[in-house]
Amino acid sequence: MSQYDYLIVGAGISSAVFAHEAAKVGKTCLVIDRRPHIAGNVYCEDIEGINVHKYGAHIFHTSIRRVWDYVNQFAEFNNYVNSPVAVYKDELYNLPFNMNTFSKMWPEVRTPEQAKAKIAAQVAEAGIGEPSNLEEQALSLVGRDVYEKLIKGYTEKQWGRDCKDLPASIIKRLPCRFRYDNNYFNDRWQGIPMGGYTKMVEAMFGDTPVKLNTEYREFIAQNPDVADRVIYCGPIDESYDYQLGRLEYRSLRFESEILDEENHQGNAVVNYTEREVPYTRIIEHKHFEYGTQPKTVITREYPADWKPGDEPYYPINDERNSSLYAQYVDLASKEGKVVFAGRLGGYKYYDMDKAIDAAFDLVEAELGVTIA
Ligand SMILES: Cc1cc2nc3c(=O)[nH]c(=O)nc-3n(C[C@H](O)[C@H](O)[C@H](O)COP(=O)(O)OP(=O)(O)OC[C@H]3O[C@@H](n4cnc5c(N)ncnc54)[C@H](O)[C@@H]3O)c2cc1C
Repeated sequence: MSQYDYLIVGAGISSAVFAHEAAKVGKTCLVIDRRPHIAGNVYCEDIEGINVHKYGAHIFHTSIRRVWDYVNQFAEFNNYVNSPVAVYKDELYNLPFNMNTFSKMWPEVRTPEQAKAKIAAQVAEAGIGEPSNLEEQALSLVGRDVYEKLIKGYTEKQWGRDCKDLPASIIKRLPCRFRYDNNYFNDRWQGIPMGGYTKMVEAMFGDTPVKLNTEYREFIAQNPDVADRVIYCGPIDESYDYQLGRLEYRSLRFESEILDEENHQGNAVVNYTEREVPYTRIIEHKHFEYGTQPKTVITREYPADWKPGDEPYYPINDERNSSLYAQYVDLASKEGKVVFAGRLGGYKYYDMDKAIDAAFDLVEAELGVTIA
């Protein structure tokens, strides 16, 4: 007889939803994670009393009511609204592209009509027919000024290539908001869990046992019959020892610094849009929670190529990787016991709300419980 109904690999947000719902219906779970902490990529480390988002800045935003209701059981959310600022050389602009951006870029522009006319004139001037690369695509959507100051350098840093060498299909739309409104997201709900994400995930796990610093392979070799079923929130290719090949990712490198000043940049997120500055963003973590600590912690974000062993941040859902992933899913479907889940098991970029919503579907399929 197995000791547990489920072994859950990974202690991130996807796993926490499953563990919470399984416990509610009387199923026993053991959670393991190779990292020394819970919460996966939404983990916050306390540095100088500030919740530092160790794996990149995380802002919760959603329009899915059942997800919003669900997370509010485990944390109270503050009223943080993401309003990034972009620095281009010695110029400073509000994001997303909105009337504040346009009136700063073109001082003669005050009204939505004037902004639309300015963009339309620049789009016409670019004279692009069928865009053949990302640069042409952007020029045909927003014109030269917005492209050169706010899109070009940032995108080139993100992809490590010139915009002229990137496919047009990467950018489908470049939404322009013709209101004076710096709220980055269009979602119905948004905020940061007060006290940080780790505390919220801890509340979701409740009494479910979690073993940290525990690698699946070694653990299962020593405990082959520990559970009837396995929910695997790690990379699917790794679990098959890359026998069909490796899935690819884009990665990030973070450099954090504690500064002996109270307020460094006056905003949580500042983007650097010129290519010559090697990082894409500086995050000042305390502003996510309106912190008043005497010191501050900032993190510079550098996009990076991914190689085996690096943290897999963004899946590259191109033809090669999508087809490889489908082959792994096929392999997995022949196994009865292991179910792949989460952003790594699904090889998908999921915002937190989508990861939680996908976990609800897993709960329904596996436990027969519908979350309304
Ligand atoms: C840079 C960045 C910024 C983001 N910002 C936002 C944002 O602002 N808003 C938003 O909504 N979403 C954001 N996201 C998305 C968010 O991080 C994910 O939705 C979320 O982390 C998914 O949780 P998960 O549980 O599926 O995966 P994870 O959090 O990755 O958890 C998986 C866990 O499994 C463990 N694991 C893997 N393999 C093994 C193994 N073999 N043995 C043991 N343990 C294993 C890992 O150590 C990890 O802890 C961002 C993502 C990135 C990359």
